Amino acid sequence: MRGGELSWWTQPTAPFQTTAQIVVVGSGAAGAFVALTLAEAGLDVVVIEEGFSPTRRPASLHEAMRRVYAEGGFRTSIGSAPPMPVAGGRGLGGSTLINSALCFRTPRDTLDEWNDLSGGAFRDVDAYYRVQDDVETIMRVAPTPDHLLSGNDRVQQIAARRLGWSEHNGRRNTPYCTGCGRCHLVCPHAGKNSVDRELLPRAAAAGARIFAGCRVQAVDTGRVSGTLVDELDQEVGSFTVHADHIVLCAGAISTPRILHDAGVVDADGPVGRGLCLQPVHSILAYLPDTVVFSPGATQGHVVDEFVDDKIIFETNPTIAAMIANLPLRGLDLTRVLAQGGQIANTGGLIRDESRGRVFGSINGVARIAYDLCPADMHRICRTLQRGARLWFEGAGAQWVGTVIHGGRLANNQAEFDAMTPQDLSPQRLISYASHPQATCSVGRVTDHQGQLLELPGVSCIDASSLPNNVGRNPQISVMTVARILSSRLAFDLGGRVAPLIPV
Ligand SMILES: Cc1cc2nc3c(=O)[nH]c(=O)nc-3n(C[C@H](O)[C@H](O)[C@H](O)COP(=O)(O)OP(=O)(O)OC[C@H]3O[C@@H](n4cnc5c(N)ncnc54)[C@H](O)[C@@H]3O)c2cc1C
Ligand code: SF4
Repeated sequence: MRGGELSWWTQPTAPFQTTAQIVVVGSGAAGAFVALTLAEAGLDVVVIEEGFSPTRRPASLHEAMRRVYAEGGFRTSIGSAPPMPVAGGRGLGGSTLINSALCFRTPRDTLDEWNDLSGGAFRDVDAYYRVQDDVETIMRVAPTPDHLLSGNDRVQQIAARRLGWSEHNGRRNTPYCTGCGRCHLVCPHAGKNSVDRELLPRAAAAGARIFAGCRVQAVDTGRVSGTLVDELDQEVGSFTVHADHIVLCAGAISTPRILHDAGVVDADGPVGRGLCLQPVHSILAYLPDTVVFSPGATQGHVVDEFVDDKIIFETNPTIAAMIANLPLRGLDLTRVLAQGGQIANTGGLIRDESRGRVFGSINGVARIAYDLCPADMHRICRTLQRGARLWFEGAGAQWVGTVIHGGRLANNQAEFDAMTPQDLSPQRLISYASHPQATCSVGRVTDHQGQLLELPGVSCIDASSLPNNVGRNPQISVMTVARILSSRLAFDLGGRVAPLIPV
């Protein structure tokens, strides 16, 4: 066995078996809160995490994709649109290692909707928001200060203000951020308070035993088992954990995938259905007189003018690969790549009404189906056109381009609108998603403690638990729901829940 710098985790190098009262599978946003809550309630907890240990940070995007992204960064959905990346994290800290750290509270209308859908899982609304206050405190959430806005953030801010659109600096959980803009590669400066910084070590201090490099492949009442993997993802042995209770916190894709792969739930049943993805589409613009590229927060600015239409805009970090998604070839592409320093980029995120489904996996590749419904297609077209307005009217862009097959760079709003008609085919979109949610929803697939209705002794508590999507970046909602459901579970298992904020 190898241990971490501070010895709060272990990476087994030889086959092992162990027992625990509760085994938690996954150590991301939800897993960390579940492990902490259960361990501090005095219960005997083992955490099993497939991914890497946090001692060595990836040096490049390529290395990060291979080591810290689910399925090496190639996890995709298939359906009416071309294959859509569904990014997810893999490691002690899960997706919080690689997320942009944007933080949003659960909107009140969303919470009301969740109560309708779940039969009142969060009916004590004041208690829900008190937990969320504590989650935000412990995650050290604060607005991005002006001095950390990147050039891209600043041009979006100016453009939105010129148009009179509602906007704000994004709130983030980055207390020591230096503004290097590399959040998606694992923060190299310990600036982001991902859950491996404080929460997992605190869970370990309360007695949780945390194992990295352990991929769960089989689950049944009382037992999880799987293979040990090394940093190169080579299988080096096997493990089994016997436990009275299992909590799956492997994320909205892997949690249903594990259950289907294990054959312990009805293949045609509710587990894995209801998938929301909150797809994002980039709108890029050339601002010849403005230096857009300058360091700062990875995504520091938000436009929420169209939130009632289920659309928000967040500045997007522009990387060469994104420019290469523009409908350009050969010398045209080379010319635009050379303008990279003056290219602004916003990402339009929608609160989707489409619902997909997660099945099991084939050769380690999750099978994810997702079709964009007509209402979402219309919303995406409105998103693209409003994004173009932001840049043309708000920032005087020379051209605006977006991520559709067969498109071109538009020189004015009319050209852009003509390129993005309401009957645009989903097959022309180049979409991206990193917010899968709602595949094992509370009140539909589980009871109000997160326990599976189909399989006694097994709970699902993570982004899969949400009754539907948040319509914002979801990590704070996922953490809040994880804290609430795991507190109920701890109580049920005879534990005494300790306060999240030590008194
Ligand atoms: C690139 C990116 C950017 C994002 N940006 C933001 C943002 O700015 N703000 C925001 O609010 N949200 C953001 N999100 C989303 C947010 O991080 C997630 O919604 C949240 O982390 C989900 O929490 P979770 O616990 O359900 O899953 P995760 O945090 O993904 O954790 C799941 C864990 O389970 C482990 N696991 C999976 N399968 C197995 C297995 N078989 N055996 C053992 N372990 C397993 C995984 O390795 C992973 O560590 C982003 C996500 C990504 C990928
Ligand atoms: S912008 Fe850089 S320093 Fe700030 S949290 Fe992200 S990776 Fe860390």
